[in-house]
Amino acid sequence: MTNRREFLASSAVGIATSAGGRSAFAASGVDAGPILDTHQHLWDLEILNPPWVKEADEILRNKYDSAAYARESVGLNIVSCLYMEIDMAPDKVDVEAKYILDLCRSGKTPTRGAILSGRPEEPAFVRRVKRLSKADEVRGFRRILHVDHAPPQTCLGKQFEKSMSVLADNGRTFDLCMRVEELDDGAKLAGRCADTQFIVDHCGNADPVAFQQKGQQKREPLHDADAWRRSMERFASHGNVACKISGIVARAPEGWRSEHLAPIIDFCLQTFGPDRVLFGSDWPVCRLGGTLKQWVVALREIVSERPEAHQRALFSQNAQKIYGAKLQA
Ligand SMILES: [Zn+2]
Repeated sequence: MTNRREFLASSAVGIATSAGGRSAFAASGVDAGPILDTHQHLWDLEILNPPWVKEADEILRNKYDSAAYARESVGLNIVSCLYMEIDMAPDKVDVEAKYILDLCRSGKTPTRGAILSGRPEEPAFVRRVKRLSKADEVRGFRRILHVDHAPPQTCLGKQFEKSMSVLADNGRTFDLCMRVEELDDGAKLAGRCADTQFIVDHCGNADPVAFQQKGQQKREPLHDADAWRRSMERFASHGNVACKISGIVARAPEGWRSEHLAPIIDFCLQTFGPDRVLFGSDWPVCRLGGTLKQWVVALREIVSERPEAHQRALFSQNAQKIYGAKLQA
């Protein structure tokens, strides 16, 4: 149930923190309701210490646990989270699974479910999915595809495709986190595996700089804007693909405002429609470009003119349908 007082409190925070941005969402009086965050990372470096962290930007080389998330999400009306795997070393993925399942079952934090790690290109993935899908908290799987250990076309192999059908048989989803140049491979996979529910992470890893006027770009954009648009349209042509509205803050130009994110978000919402988009914080990776609060406030602003029903769908209801996740225990 929506707690109106809580929402008003978070709106007030929104106005206070959105320096120079639009605050129409607060002024409109639309109550877009509670948030289900479908992309919460956690790393308590003593227990979960993914190998990439030591070379990551300094801001990510910290302990990011449930307590830190609670501090940074105060007033945002985030009532439930799905943990998103963090590319742990293959021999540590069971440590990760146990840690997260224990956390979900403790009921002490908003984390209610998880998208766990696995390598669908390997036959062992099938056993892993069958074993872990016995737990209701495990809502899906991801194998990050934009890293060195996932060369181009990893997702187009026969075993990978077979693994996707095992996910469908077990009622579990697959998150696609890909290089922009390879998004079409993901769309191809989605076309071949029509029974599997896919979620394209981070608006297809779009780079906000690619949508700026040439003269305003302070660095080379990471991809061509039109190529990205075409790939996202290909994805959207498959009814079994949803788009996660997340991630883009991490690459936003310094001093960004909601206007810098809007072209990407508006395109995704229009292309996938109101029923196939869902919110993710990508916390703490979002901190590379802004706080969790800045991201939520910016997104609320960008969608503030849209029908209230569409906003609710984006922030919580679609996640419940697509991941089969509960909003609250
Ligand atoms: Zn992420």
